[in-house]
Amino acid sequence: MTTRSFIKGCLKCFKFNKMFSNLIFFGMQGSGKGTQGKLFAQKYDYQVFETGKELRKIAQEDSPLGKKVKEITEEGKLVPNEVVMEIVENFVAHIPSEEKVIFDGLPRKEEQRVSFEELLARFDRKGTGVLIKITEEEAIKRLTSRKVCEKCKAIFGAGYEDAVCDQCGGKLISRADDNLESIKVRLNEYQKQTVPVIEKYREEERLIEINGIQGAEEVAKELEEKLGVAESE
Ligand SMILES: [Zn+2]
Repeated sequence: MTTRSFIKGCLKCFKFNKMFSNLIFFGMQGSGKGTQGKLFAQKYDYQVFETGKELRKIAQEDSPLGKKVKEITEEGKLVPNEVVMEIVENFVAHIPSEEKVIFDGLPRKEEQRVSFEELLARFDRKGTGVLIKITEEEAIKRLTSRKVCEKCKAIFGAGYEDAVCDQCGGKLISRADDNLESIKVRLNEYQKQTVPVIEKYREEERLIEINGIQGAEEVAKELEEKLGVAESE
């Protein structure tokens, strides 16, 4: 049975559908994949593995791994793949095997995809990709118009018109790292490194594609429909 027919055939037995026990969220910066992943996780009881967050968490631990990560990040270096895998392994090994996981922020490149897949397989897990699709133009539009609250650091998208934060009244400023040059560097990196990874999941028919150029609620709804958890009308 191919994955595609398996996905279709199992719309009604989501709870038992192992294909969806490990979701890997892909999408350009600005696609909203992080937010969508968190919302879906909350609603459908998934653990979230967010690479950046896990790295920061580990760096504060008084363990050999924690010290290693702290050292690397303090020197401003990129965390090597084997260390990232150690952290993923640490995470997966400490949760029950029936626990569902959403992975956000990896695999980013081919080398990482291979080791990530091997690691999941060792824990009897297999990932299905979820791609929140937007165009580069849309990503640039969203990222350059993003503002952040000076006080509470809340992030506001293009649609938010007020000059002050609706949570604390703080002043909204442009995000320092959201200038056009660095956005283009990041998008370029995504095209070169991550798109081939996504291609691989598509080839293996393990990819669910969602239109990211619509409101957040519509994205969430399409996600639920395609993962077979939408309530039938
Ligand atoms: Zn604020």
